[in-house]
Amino acid sequence: MSRVWVTETVERLDEVVEVKGWVMSRRDHGKLIFIDLRDRSGLLQVVFKNGAGAEGLFDKANQLRSEYVVSITGKIQKRGERQINPDMPTGTVELIADDMEILAEAETPVFEIEKAHEVGEDLRMQYRYLDLRSERMRNNLEKRHQIISIIHNYLDAEKFWEIETPYLTKGTPEGAREYVIPARLNPGSYFVLPQSPQQFKQLLMVGGVERYYQIARCFRDEDMRGDRQAEFTQMDMEMSFVEREDVMAVNEAMLIKIVETLYPEKRIQQVPFPRISYKEAMEKYGSDRPDLREDKDDPNLLAFCWVIDFPFFEKTNKEEHHGAEGEWTFTHNPFSAAIPEHREWLQNKQNIGDILTTQYDIVLNGYEIGGGSIRNHKAEDLRKVLEIIGHKPENIERDFGHMLKAFTFGTPPHGGIAWGLDRLVMLLQNEPSIRDVMAFPKTGDARDLMMGAPADVSAKQLKELGLS
Ligand code: ASP
Repeated sequence: MSRVWVTETVERLDEVVEVKGWVMSRRDHGKLIFIDLRDRSGLLQVVFKNGAGAEGLFDKANQLRSEYVVSITGKIQKRGERQINPDMPTGTVELIADDMEILAEAETPVFEIEKAHEVGEDLRMQYRYLDLRSERMRNNLEKRHQIISIIHNYLDAEKFWEIETPYLTKGTPEGAREYVIPARLNPGSYFVLPQSPQQFKQLLMVGGVERYYQIARCFRDEDMRGDRQAEFTQMDMEMSFVEREDVMAVNEAMLIKIVETLYPEKRIQQVPFPRISYKEAMEKYGSDRPDLREDKDDPNLLAFCWVIDFPFFEKTNKEEHHGAEGEWTFTHNPFSAAIPEHREWLQNKQNIGDILTTQYDIVLNGYEIGGGSIRNHKAEDLRKVLEIIGHKPENIERDFGHMLKAFTFGTPPHGGIAWGLDRLVMLLQNEPSIRDVMAFPKTGDARDLMMGAPADVSAKQLKELGLS
């Protein structure tokens, strides 16, 4: 007999079926024992009757404890009128057990599964596999999967190719500290983990790919201010022969598709999404990620907007300055192009503080959920940006020579964007933290309490790496 998911049992009335899962709770009523059986799809009430079913079945049912793993066969029956539970998708039926196998016993769980969110988060992290059994976490993971699935289908239909870019690579300036990996085969050299696939996706455009995307892991070794993670996921894309509005249009349509398909109860406040200049956002809302919701208490209201026309450069002090000497730094992305009207200023290094970038940020309910830009596809323009932010010629060659060179071989105009996927899922799921929509997040101080990482490595490993 093949196993059925418990939520499918409502369509199997009067049939004998086999279900498998975890015992969520057991209630003894003398001659009857009830359990709630949980599998990934939901819950089902199972009834054991003293004297019915296989030999010894009732005794076995008596041994059941929370989180035992069982396989049960029996008939699906309609519940009596008074037993119907309207809060449960399978609340109109129950399974009358005929036979059962205990597949695994279980220690008493360290917290009650459905009350996981009431215990300290460190405990949930340490026993994440138990936490994941809760309905709330299962639902978050399922929705995350479905969102990613829509992204794949949508972009496939739009002729994007999903391409994986390296995780072992070279540093790229995007404003954050990088994770460094010693390279054993090249002693004294190091890989870094990418803050984003930025350079590779642009090089894919040089490579003629035209439309790329990736559900990409990104790494930023930052002090964990607020709700950040050392590794997080981006929906990253790049397109050739496009202008700002082209990239925005694809992304806007894909976001709408996700909401309409998976969240029919939600309402998008304004379509097309409003476009607001940085200047207007700051003047009117005092923020470059304004929360435009008409009703901030409505959990089903989604107010998307695009923020555009950011200043390209801002003044900074030397210490914070990404290793370069000058006093200008980029506000978003050094690979961005200036808006067409300001390209001449960039080329002449003129009116630097007034140059606007093609950067566009996508904002939802006061959170930045993504950002991107049209890039400098001409080597001399990229070189000008790097000079303005104070890189010395020899450093430009060392750190960006490969990009500048690539751009001399016939590079199409191109642009792209990346979404912070964790944050988008968090907002759509109305969760307070991105940790609630990641299967195995790290704590606020970047530790994995379940695996015990980071940890020591052996003296032998260090020696091999030439480290002490
Ligand atoms: N690489 C940028 C980021 O990670 C996104 C982009 O400009 O496409 O923020």
